[in-house]
Amino acid sequence: MRVAALSGGVGGARFLRGLLGALRARDVAAEVTVVANTGDDITLHGLRVCPDLDTLMYTLGGGVDEAQGWGRDGDTGHVAAELAAYGAGPDWFTLGDRDVATHLVRTRMLGAGYTLSEVTRALCERWRPGVRLLPMSDQPVETHVVVRDPERRAVHLQEWWVRGHAETPAEGFPLLGLDRAVPAPGVLDALRGADVVLLPPSNPVVSLGPVLALPGVRDALRGTAAPVVGVAPVVGGRTVRGMAAACLAALDVPCTAAGVGGLLRDVLDAWLVDDADLGATRAALTPADHPDRADVAVHGTDLLMRDREGAVRLAGTALDVALGLHGATAGA
Ligand code: GDP
Ligand code: CA
Repeated sequence: MRVAALSGGVGGARFLRGLLGALRARDVAAEVTVVANTGDDITLHGLRVCPDLDTLMYTLGGGVDEAQGWGRDGDTGHVAAELAAYGAGPDWFTLGDRDVATHLVRTRMLGAGYTLSEVTRALCERWRPGVRLLPMSDQPVETHVVVRDPERRAVHLQEWWVRGHAETPAEGFPLLGLDRAVPAPGVLDALRGADVVLLPPSNPVVSLGPVLALPGVRDALRGTAAPVVGVAPVVGGRTVRGMAAACLAALDVPCTAAGVGGLLRDVLDAWLVDDADLGATRAALTPADHPDRADVAVHGTDLLMRDREGAVRLAGTALDVALGLHGATAGA
């Protein structure tokens, strides 16, 4: 079975680790292709850092700092401390010592002319994440944030997010470089040729948003013969983790399973929401004039990945929905 997924960092990586567990538990031989958001990428101290690719690689490859959800396990901060002693900023984005090696290898290879796809493949030879990990694009695309401060400027997503904790109200998320970017080799083929497409509970605006904005991606998802199943990152009107609420607010989208489902409605066949949100989401996503022809089938489950087993269970449910093994609860 060929499974394709789009993903951001922590939420996506935990879900996808669960997916690999669920496939193993079902004894299904599958080739999983993961298309990672690279809109978070940033150059710091001359090093090219790809947070979502690295989180996926470390999580699926068994090298992640579990408590944090990102970065290398057992890492130390000597390089960061030395940089601080030089007063060499930025000081709000720390790179662990072990992590720095990844960025050194990546930066060196990019400088030698390799594409980000080739670099990612090389890094994965060490980590063996058990999936084919693709960057969404080989061209740099950087998500910036137009902030509502007196000067109304745009800052890099990482500065708004990591430094400012998404506290400055945002007005939009322009994707710098998007006009020159195309999906990386293999991305569209993976979506078109998949048997199942999954959208993990990644941030719908700044993780899935940049991938979906690349030319051809939305069309490939609409056109694929595979069922496209999404998992809501929101439970009971709150994001489970992180600051997606601030991103949704900027787009005037309610921070609900129905609100996020509405953003993805054109590409989704099924939408997995928390049991508590089932009724409201179903009502919102069922067209009033065609109550019997909902374009998105809404399914309810326990949406929280409390631990590794919880992620296996959630991903298994998403797989069952895709394979038609989980009773539909609306439309379909
Ligand atoms: P990031 O790039 O590290 O921010 O990671 P992602 O974009 O992949 O994931 C962030 C999203 O994951 C947030 O919007 C969270 O609400 C969501 N998330 C985190 N943990 C869980 C969980 O246990 N269940 C669900 N359904 N969503 C979760
Ligand atoms: Ca991210």
